[in-house]
Amino acid sequence: MHTHQMHIADLHVHTTISDGHASPEDVIAYTLAHTSVTMIAITDHDQIHGAKRAAAAAEGTRLQVIIGEEISSRDGHILAYFIQDRIAPGYSTADTIRAIHEQGGLAVAAHPYDWMVRSCGRAGLLRRAAGSTPEWQFDAIESLNASLRPRAANTQAAAAATVLGLPVIGGSDSHCVTTIGYGYTTFAGASAADLRTAIAQHRTIAAGRHWSWGDMAEAGARLLTRTLNPWAVRA
Ligand SMILES: [Zn+2]
Ligand SMILES: [Zn+2]
Repeated sequence: MHTHQMHIADLHVHTTISDGHASPEDVIAYTLAHTSVTMIAITDHDQIHGAKRAAAAAEGTRLQVIIGEEISSRDGHILAYFIQDRIAPGYSTADTIRAIHEQGGLAVAAHPYDWMVRSCGRAGLLRRAAGSTPEWQFDAIESLNASLRPRAANTQAAAAATVLGLPVIGGSDSHCVTTIGYGYTTFAGASAADLRTAIAQHRTIAAGRHWSWGDMAEAGARLLTRTLNPWAVRA
């Protein structure tokens, strides 16, 4: 069956449960009222209960919520999708990915070439995620993170995905509602299962625009804190 409908999934959004400015409920309300996003992954730093609240808030609406988490591994941030239980920060990348897979989830290297925070790219992604039995068994690479400066970091992530033979995803990394949908993943189909299938078949497309400097200013001092000290995200 051929489907023409492409869904827009913003797979990287924060709430007040970590360092975002809007509550899970407000994120859902804004996304429904002001964007064409049809699927959203709530990926708070090292927390999952906000994602569960968002899923409850979106029940019965057109918006589908993926339960996610952005886990601060020792080597860099890792996005987890389709998990049920919180995964703790501070473990190695290999152990973090293993914990995600034990829950049946997908593990994605977040902004792997971010110049400002600890990142899997600089910790050896190209070497450690390569081959038939890699040390780091990532399921995909985040090749479009709308918050990244410089933008070349996304180009580098896309190139790494090509070299590693991994699919790509995109997300806004929103910390305030106005940037929701700036970065997104498109795929054929509509459901969460369709998204998983598209990732497995390398048929996702990562796209979007970058935050403006005004968006950066609005995201504010807490993001700056993250930039200066990646371990301060929950302070
Ligand atoms: Zn991050
Ligand atoms: Zn993030």
